Amino acid sequence: MKRALITGITGQDGSFLAEWLLEKGYRVFGLARRESWYRPNSASHLAGRIEVLFGDMSEGVDIASAIQDAKPDEIYNLASQSRPGESWARAPETLQVNGLGAIRLFEAVRHNCPACRVYHASSSEMFGQAAVSPQNEQTPFNPVNPYAAAKVYAHQMAKIYRESYGLYIATGILFNHESERRPLHFLTQKVAYGAACAALGISDSLDINEMGRPIVQHGKLALGNLEIARDWGYARDFVRAMWLMLQQESAGDFVIGTGELHTLRDLCEIAYRCVDKDWRESVLSDPALVRPLESGQTLADASKARKQLEWRPTVSFEEMVKKMVSEQMVRLKNVTNHLN
Ligand code: NAP
Repeated sequence: MKRALITGITGQDGSFLAEWLLEKGYRVFGLARRESWYRPNSASHLAGRIEVLFGDMSEGVDIASAIQDAKPDEIYNLASQSRPGESWARAPETLQVNGLGAIRLFEAVRHNCPACRVYHASSSEMFGQAAVSPQNEQTPFNPVNPYAAAKVYAHQMAKIYRESYGLYIATGILFNHESERRPLHFLTQKVAYGAACAALGISDSLDINEMGRPIVQHGKLALGNLEIARDWGYARDFVRAMWLMLQQESAGDFVIGTGELHTLRDLCEIAYRCVDKDWRESVLSDPALVRPLESGQTLADASKARKQLEWRPTVSFEEMVKKMVSEQMVRLKNVTNHLN
């Protein structure tokens, strides 16, 4: 039986990946911060089916012990301070986890299991304000926020460790991927939540946004720049690509994305249409929520992954938004029933 260790097991991708690996017959270990594992998280439903090892990516010793305990054939390094917008306020921590955390893991692999195959989560945010579109594995990076800069550092170090020590470290330059498991402070989930509130007649939501105000206040959902466009895919499709990357003869870098751009305006339109509402009556653009320096309109050219991994997305943008809105409806109805 193959053994896999996933860092960031409590997150969106960690939970989907664990499910995928369990289905494939793997013995799955997850590295989690103790306090996060005991809170409800995306992988809570897997308790008993996965083995959780406690540790923090800021501590090399935690990572090395997890590797010694799990004895993995494959490691998926997904742990990260994963909010680009928040990385401005948490720049040192972002570098600590996203940049140096990865190096600690590569070092631990080098000393404890050099034959192990490693997937490292890079990000399309590294392209930032890219000079060319669409972006592929050869496109130069131009990061415009602390999150992206830390990801570039780890990405370059993955290549250096691969070439200098002969380690198998594959990197996935993944474009945005969303799901019903996204935390509420992510844009797509906020929109799904806003649409569900509109459908249920909730004009002042219990959940709050990054400004400390209700996400929906006086019947309005406040967002930043509605013109931003993203290549958004469905997370379950993307974790399959991570696994495929580790089944190749040699390690490489792969861009993963749908190759389709949608604006935030499109997202709102579809989400509110799912509940028969007109988004223009419920959404406003608040300048306070615009990022200091927005990434450009990055778009994936995933032809290498399509050819070499035979990877393709299976869930459309509309289907994904629909899933997210209907999940928020269920969640909000449960909360409302509980309060009544
Ligand atoms: P996520 O849901 O935010 O999960 C991040 C995980 O990292 C959580 O389990 C979190 O644990 C863990 N983590 C954070 N700081 C840690 C620390 N100091 N020590 C140990 N664990 C720590 O992110 P995701 O969407 O699943 O993304 C997975 C990876 O892909 C991340 O590296 C992200 O940057 C990258 N990525 C994501 C996207 C996307 O659109 N989703 C796109 C490109 C790249 P806690 O529960 O303890 O916070």
